[in-house]
Amino acid sequence: MLKYLNVKSSSRTEFIDITAQVQEEITEAGMESGVCYVYVPHTTAGVTINEGADPSVQEDMLSTLSSMVPQDPQYRHAEGNSDAHMKSSMIGASISVPVHEGKLILGTWQAIFFAEFDGPRHRRVALKFIPDAS
Ligand code: ZN
Repeated sequence: MLKYLNVKSSSRTEFIDITAQVQEEITEAGMESGVCYVYVPHTTAGVTINEGADPSVQEDMLSTLSSMVPQDPQYRHAEGNSDAHMKSSMIGASISVPVHEGKLILGTWQAIFFAEFDGPRHRRVALKFIPDAS
């Protein structure tokens, strides 16, 4: 089964917690046990799992990525968003999360983040549910 989440970013770089939306789709799909594959079909965004409790962690990650990959005008790509393309590949376009008894298996401090690197934009996140073979 394939589902899409709509995500609207409101700044150029931003982490958006999509954990509740992903869990909602799993509940709606009725998947009790299996794997939820989360995929971002964009070249200037990504998806990652990290700390969801303290927003400072997301700010630190964004500022560290920006110091590693400056928005430098010397890139060749004419669109002017090469830094966003690089950050997208560094963070990655997909994650897989196990599902048990209808719930995402996430640690106490873990959350699923859509990572925006060239917003604000309307984005989509694809969810593929892979139930256990019975
Ligand atoms: Zn581009």
